[in-house]
Amino acid sequence: MGQSLLNEGMKVARTIPTMKEIRGELPEPVGFVPTMGYLHEGHLSLVRRARGENRSVAVSIFVNPTQFGPQEDFETYPRDAERDLTLLRQEGIDVVFVPEAEEMYPADFNSWIVVEGMTEMLEGASRPGHFRGVATVVAKLLNIVQPNRAYFGRKDAQQALVIEKMVNDLNMSPEIIVAPTVREPDGLAVSSRNVRLDPEERQAALVLWKSLSLAQQLRSGGERSADRIRQQMIALIEGEPRARIDYVSIADPESLRELDEIDRPALVSLAVRIGKTRLIDNVILDGAS
Ligand code: AMP
Repeated sequence: MGQSLLNEGMKVARTIPTMKEIRGELPEPVGFVPTMGYLHEGHLSLVRRARGENRSVAVSIFVNPTQFGPQEDFETYPRDAERDLTLLRQEGIDVVFVPEAEEMYPADFNSWIVVEGMTEMLEGASRPGHFRGVATVVAKLLNIVQPNRAYFGRKDAQQALVIEKMVNDLNMSPEIIVAPTVREPDGLAVSSRNVRLDPEERQAALVLWKSLSLAQQLRSGGERSADRIRQQMIALIEGEPRARIDYVSIADPESLRELDEIDRPALVSLAVRIGKTRLIDNVILDGAS
């Protein structure tokens, strides 16, 4: 029989002490991919990159309650732990950390990480407290798993920046690696929330990618005015009756401050509601010419 891809030896840690004990035995370097589960090709691209660059790979699956606002979709966030574990076994990873909420946030939990400044705009403006929850859970996960490298997706560009800033400001050890956004063949960014879209909404959701592509086209055609690009993106999205814009931003990719003139690389990012589902996406525009 040929070598099976199935990793029968994949360990599943449900408590923090178990995760730490398994970590102690893993050959280094250890790569780590934190996720909220309902795994898709975007997550798997991070897992494969981690597999290729490290001797051991750890993945966490935890729908983190503290990054959801009271009106948000924590309760209905898609979950399928068994399917996720099967997928991860097929990827040959070493350990999956699957804690319960009480394990991560016992009743007396009282310490939070707040990255100031860049968390006040874009996702932070639309979702107050979101990045406090993200930074806190990622700090906890990095402390528990102690990876040499941790992998995040460019799809959540602001999240990746916030984590890089936290790791840098607090002198945390892991190297942070940010990997490209994985898309469906028609351009829609792969997301766990895409399963919520009905067939008409799935079609309507293409306005995110269409408007980002329009921005790229306008920029490569020589347009330098961020405002003119933004206005054309907004007009395109407003042409889709199922879409409601949360924000459309053209900002400096590091400070996230809005740009007037695109005379350097620019992060074009947007959040759009399609029916009840809120989707985000982004691209980087070239600053040259
Ligand atoms: P989530 O489970 O949505 O919290 O995502 C876990 C990690 O996967 C985060 O670092 C995300 O940025 C990343 N991710 C989610 N969707 C994609 C995608 N389409 N392409 C690349 N990375 C992604």
